[in-house]
Amino acid sequence: MVVDDAGENAPRTVTVLGSTGSVGASTVDLLARNPGRYRVEALTAGRNVELLARQALALRPALAVVADPDRYEALASALAGSGIEVAAGPQAVVDAAGRPADWVMAAIVGAAGLEPTLAAARRGAIVAFANKEVLVCAGPVMMEVVRQCGATLLPVDSEHNAIFQVFDFARPEAIDRLILTASGGPFRNASRDEMARVTPAQAIAHPIWDMGAKISVDSATMMNKGLEIIEARFLFGMPEDRIDVLVHPQSVVHSLVEYVDGSVLAQLGTPDMRIPIAHALAWPHRIPTPAARLDLARAGTLTFEAPDPDRFPALRLARHALQCGGGAPTILNAANEVAVQGFLEGRIGFLDIERIVERSLTTLAGDAMLDLDDVRRFDARARRFAADLVTKSG
Ligand code: NDP
Repeated sequence: MVVDDAGENAPRTVTVLGSTGSVGASTVDLLARNPGRYRVEALTAGRNVELLARQALALRPALAVVADPDRYEALASALAGSGIEVAAGPQAVVDAAGRPADWVMAAIVGAAGLEPTLAAARRGAIVAFANKEVLVCAGPVMMEVVRQCGATLLPVDSEHNAIFQVFDFARPEAIDRLILTASGGPFRNASRDEMARVTPAQAIAHPIWDMGAKISVDSATMMNKGLEIIEARFLFGMPEDRIDVLVHPQSVVHSLVEYVDGSVLAQLGTPDMRIPIAHALAWPHRIPTPAARLDLARAGTLTFEAPDPDRFPALRLARHALQCGGGAPTILNAANEVAVQGFLEGRIGFLDIERIVERSLTTLAGDAMLDLDDVRRFDARARRFAADLVTKSG
């Protein structure tokens, strides 16, 4: 792991992939609050040129990129005369990640973030890692690039960031178990009949976290926690059967590490993504954030319960994919992305998501996954298969 000890004094050069999203905008907020500490190399967005241009004018990056090529003219005209270089298209996002920046926030949603995140890792950058689908669809490939190129992955997902903060990397053999906490999402107490009727608007109305649409639906199905088990497997090298999930609706305890002597260490805080983002942004130092401070007396009772495997089968599906290995997690991820999109577009019901993921996993062979070409092949095949199921379900 590379430690950037110059971070205290010299400005750290940063790039934000997915700056217009929920995690990206929180990162931009922290950068704007710390102007002397960071110099922004590039900001990238998917389509939201208006927000990207506002962020660029505030942070003055060298480069602003929009992934959708049709949005190039709009971005170029919004930034005309600013001196900020402008580019568009998926390859331009990958190129932006490849430009020299000490630190790259990977906050694109879905497997679309794979190639840009790999580009940042290939040049040995510190990668602040929010885009969990990258590790789910290409964990072995990504971790091998990180190892070979000397990159550093800093977990930003609040659960994995919590574990990172209390994980003894010098003595991993002293760790028995990782315990990921889960809010339980908006349907924590809903019956399967109720879930069958929920709308996209209800599914994205998360009780605690304000997040992008895709992760909000994942949180409602609890596939998010399944993806996080896979993410934790790769980030911390822990086998699947030593990664547990605990439902904790208040989202104050962000995850726990159990040691062989019975000690359990946890990281706590108010549910504000700026806390884990700031941890990664300043790492190995710390910077203040505007997040509300944790007041345990006011928080009152904190509750914990086991997840219900019957009402939330996504956890079982994710564990199954991890146990199968090879391309199975890639298939799980691609099918889930397609099904969630279908649900958000009103084409399928909420419970069809897990059904489509399960059908994809059990029908498609996820044999050995050796390289990026294998990832692309499994991903494309699963997307086609799941898209067909969405059409047939609609
Ligand atoms: P959002 O949907 O809010 O933002 C996604 C970002 O990715 C936007 O900037 C979007 O651009 C961009 N984007 C979308 N498609 C593409 C594409 N094809 N190419 C390039 N850029 C694209 O997502 P979140 O911020 O909620 O989540 C981002 C990632 O972080 C996800 O993997 C999520 O699981 C993870 N995460 C999120 C948390 C949260 O609190 N939100 C917490 C922990 C993890 P645009 O909007 O301009 O189209």
